[in-house]
Amino acid sequence: MDILSALVRIVGNDRVSNSPEELFIYSRDSGAQPPRRADYVVMPKTVEEVRNVLLLANEAKIPVTPLGGGFTLSALVVPNKGGMVLDMRRMDRILEVDEINRYALIEAGVSQGALRSYLQKNHPRLQHSMPEAPPTATVVGNALIQGHGHISPRYGLNSDMVSGMEVVLPTGDICKIGSCSLGPSWFTRGPLPDLPGLFIGWLGTTGVVTKLAIKLYPKPAFREVIAFKSDDVDLMTEAIFEATYLDLLEDFFIIAQEKPDWLNHIFYVLILSGHSKEELELKKSAYKRLFREFKGGGKVEFVEQLHPALEKRFLDVPPLAALAADFRKGGGFEYTGAILPITKVPEAWRKGMEIFRKYGMMCSYVHQVLMGNSVMFGFNYSFNRADEVDIQNTRRALEESNRLTYELGGIVWKGEVGAQKLAMERMDPNTFRLIQGIKKFLDPNGIMNPGNWELSEDPKTNKVS
Ligand SMILES: Cc1cc2nc3c(=O)[nH]c(=O)nc-3n(C[C@H](O)[C@H](O)[C@H](O)COP(=O)(O)OP(=O)(O)OC[C@H]3O[C@@H](n4cnc5c(N)ncnc54)[C@H](O)[C@@H]3O)c2cc1C
Repeated sequence: MDILSALVRIVGNDRVSNSPEELFIYSRDSGAQPPRRADYVVMPKTVEEVRNVLLLANEAKIPVTPLGGGFTLSALVVPNKGGMVLDMRRMDRILEVDEINRYALIEAGVSQGALRSYLQKNHPRLQHSMPEAPPTATVVGNALIQGHGHISPRYGLNSDMVSGMEVVLPTGDICKIGSCSLGPSWFTRGPLPDLPGLFIGWLGTTGVVTKLAIKLYPKPAFREVIAFKSDDVDLMTEAIFEATYLDLLEDFFIIAQEKPDWLNHIFYVLILSGHSKEELELKKSAYKRLFREFKGGGKVEFVEQLHPALEKRFLDVPPLAALAADFRKGGGFEYTGAILPITKVPEAWRKGMEIFRKYGMMCSYVHQVLMGNSVMFGFNYSFNRADEVDIQNTRRALEESNRLTYELGGIVWKGEVGAQKLAMERMDPNTFRLIQGIKKFLDPNGIMNPGNWELSEDPKTNKVS
């Protein structure tokens, strides 16, 4: 079968290509993973087009890799086994904003920046949870990888904010999930069997999400950043516990970096918000008091004059914490997003430091504290893209950070294929089999982003087959 002609028949000449110049960009991402081959790129505009592309791919057994903004950095949108990249960015309509029931219904290609601008202009009292990722990252891609945004410490992971979905299965079925499967409103995903879980966290291996409803939240008029600092790594668990226990935060970061010198401390950065100045002042004084009295006093210091660079970065929506990183010449950047229990933060800190030193990396830590019981602990590595040795060192450092994450009882977030393998090798065998069974049921020919959540068939390497 001439696949290119069949794809042209579905989406037209302009939105499909197999030319090497255009495929170049789809065969790599901006992280440290090596490039891989893509055979076609297709840009559907309608759900029917997505369906027809999947029916074709399923019949011809051609791999399909769904692409949103492509910013996970861990090459999740770079095909492992060739085939087509399904670039969703032409499906970019904001279909509905329900102010009173507080959700936005969007197509899969709507970017973070587009939704934000639309809300600012048309619904200024509402906001969605913005990740720090580049604004061209998609809302759907982010929710599907269990991402987090600038109000996550207050309201939960961005995937928890999904209130409905439309999904095309590789077999061509178009499914509605949540209240939208029963009536016109997309306001809730339950009480019903929680089917979004069949598509969240699966890295595009179970179906293509074409529409998504995401919850919206009040947008307080006042925000302020305050910071505390200490150099005592062992205090971190308790400091996180107390700060989240007080439960008045909008967002909460811990950052540290070797250079410049003023950043070479452990900074607890608290973003507070309020509908009135009084509310904000109350929250500020509650946190100042908490740290003043923390462990009898004097252990964590209030930062009287926050460096303007730091203040500005954290006041932005989303806060630009990663931009505080002291990037190396050459512009490369990748991180292991380790989701860790807060009790493991000091150990992760120390052992992570050993990895930085071993590979000659610049020490740069940013952690976003999630809902009080976990942190997203970023082992951040910047590298020179033009220097092969530097890239190799980054890959080794990432792999060690991944192993460390699992050893500490954590989970690697949005991990590259190698990190997924480490997880599956450790996983309870029945859980592993359940995952493989669900994948097989939804995608019988294994066309969806193959290589992800997959162990090799080799019995020597497949410990849990
Ligand atoms: C500097 C920087 C800072 C970052 N900060 C944050 C942060 O604060 N919070 C955060 O959560 N992330 C952050 N990230 C990570 C990442 O960029 C974001 O999570 C981003 O939102 C992912 O969305 P995307 O559109 O790029 O997804 P993609 O990379 O395109 O896709 C992610 C996964 O979802 C699948 N997928 C995409 N669309 C679909 C679809 N329609 N149907 C089925 N599967 C699909 C893909 O196959 C892939 O497996 C950051 C990245 C960078 C570079």
